[in-house]
Amino acid sequence: MKLDGISALITGGASGLGNATATRLAAQGVSVVIVDLPSSQGADAAGRLGGNARFIAADVTNEDQVQAAVDAAVALAPLKLVVNCAGVATPGKVLGRDGTLPLATFTTVIQINLIGTFNVLRLAAAKMSQIEPDENGSRGLIVNTASVAAFDGQIGQPAYAASKGAVHAMTLPVARELARFGIRVNTIAPGIMETPMLMGLPQEAQDSLGTQVPFPSRLGRPDEYAALVQHLAENDYLNGETIRLDGAIRMAP
Ligand code: NAD
Repeated sequence: MKLDGISALITGGASGLGNATATRLAAQGVSVVIVDLPSSQGADAAGRLGGNARFIAADVTNEDQVQAAVDAAVALAPLKLVVNCAGVATPGKVLGRDGTLPLATFTTVIQINLIGTFNVLRLAAAKMSQIEPDENGSRGLIVNTASVAAFDGQIGQPAYAASKGAVHAMTLPVARELARFGIRVNTIAPGIMETPMLMGLPQEAQDSLGTQVPFPSRLGRPDEYAALVQHLAENDYLNGETIRLDGAIRMAP
């Protein structure tokens, strides 16, 4: 799939992995729509990209807001790339010292990470299926973001691991279903990436996590995620897959 001249919708694009992806794609001639919660960060991020880039304030769990964001991307150029990066990593043990993990916390994490991802995917796919396919029959690509927690979730991550495991689990059935439209669906499962989500941890903890990565012995860089999105876009044969991007780390309990 060619990137030049298409539009891309990137949720969570105001920060971290989504922002790095927006930056990389804009440099390839993609008209980028950054979708994120309302804040000046989103508008600033779109402003830095220049050109056709736009920020649309939307909560991924809200149908009307996501529909408006999809429509904005379609209005810019053919929408052929969707990157689901919006997510939260609220920790909490099942049986913590301060009581059980509140059901509301569990629900919120599932709501944003899983249901939000599906909401964007379904509304974007409905529009993408209507655009002209290219000469190879491709109508585009949807990239979801899971986590290594989908496979080796740690203590304190029941909600996060469940949400990311479900994103992984829905990837293949959705890819199989959308194949008839020439829309591919893949999921990236990052390990420990250097983004604001992780920056809440003390520096010592960050350094120690980096040294646990077999190679290279450091945290992942946001542009390494963005480069994988670009690779997925450019390789039509990659479909229905969840790819770990983690330097071969396997998280201890
Ligand atoms: P980040 O906190 O830097 O960015 C996440 C973005 O999502 C933020 O801009 C936030 O405002 C936005 N967001 C949150 N809830 C939203 C909602 N309801 N609607 C719209 N936007 C919303 O984090 P990041 O590290 O860039 O994470 C991106 C994705 O990668 C997340 O899904 C995260 O779970 C996943 N991930 C991150 C790591 C890591 O180590 N950083 C590892 C594995 C997976």
